[in-house]
Amino acid sequence: MIRYEELKDYTVIVTGGTRGIGRAISEAFLDQGSRVIALYRGDEESAARFREARQAFPLEVQRLDIADAAAVEAFFARFDRERGEGALDALVNNAGIRRDNVVGMMPTEDWDAVLRTNLTGTYLMSKMAALRMLSKRFGRVINITSPSGKYGFMGQANYAASKAGQVAFAKSMAKETAKRGITVNCVSPGYIDTDLIADLPEEMKKRYREEVPMKRFGRVEEIAAATLFLASRDASYITGTVLEVTGGI
Ligand code: NDP
Repeated sequence: MIRYEELKDYTVIVTGGTRGIGRAISEAFLDQGSRVIALYRGDEESAARFREARQAFPLEVQRLDIADAAAVEAFFARFDRERGEGALDALVNNAGIRRDNVVGMMPTEDWDAVLRTNLTGTYLMSKMAALRMLSKRFGRVINITSPSGKYGFMGQANYAASKAGQVAFAKSMAKETAKRGITVNCVSPGYIDTDLIADLPEEMKKRYREEVPMKRFGRVEEIAAATLFLASRDASYITGTVLEVTGGI
């Protein structure tokens, strides 16, 4: 992977940063020398495994439900106490969930859960992060969205709405923060082999793979590479946009 000299001085928060795409993003930043705070919601086993694998690195693994406004505020208050208010350089809003169903059958709780985690979580974390980045006139916010938000997929109205919302949110926030040196962008991964899509029937995965012009699913490292680029100084004139990493979908 490319070396970005400046990333060794970054402090980065990655939500859902202990498994799947988020873990790969956390690892990519650690490999650049960044200090990483990887957040997770409840999978203690994956969190412990990640902590164990990266003992020698400046990694902090913390449990935080990003949909819980009070918990997010408490997390940032502690962050300020321990690291100082100007410490944060980049936030990656990666945490996300799926609760698929056709609209007519979708329980309201599933609508709420997906919107709360994927969209409200992005808002809560970005707001707190931006408040800290404004004063130092530098920051990077990167949302991990999905092609579902652009094209819409059957059975994913809640997920698609949340992912389209992340893009609209990024575009608006980018305009608000551009003058202060804070960029806000999205990475849109295509099909990536993680737990998130592990429950799809094999037949369906085969069909999806066929639909990808590159005829394969993406690797988590390929999403991490795009995220590092948007976090780097090389991407200093890029804001309010979506980098699609989809094998050509
Ligand atoms: P995984 O299901 O493998 O991991 C999801 C991560 O999000 C976990 O670490 C989980 O924590 C965390 N998380 C979920 N809810 C919360 C919450 N309320 N608060 C804090 N953390 C939470 O997903 P992927 O790695 O596959 O996906 C990562 C992102 O990429 C998601 O936003 C997803 O929508 C997006 N994406 C994925 C694609 C794919 O094909 N995999 C395609 C397009 C987009 P815990 O470990 O504790 O459960």
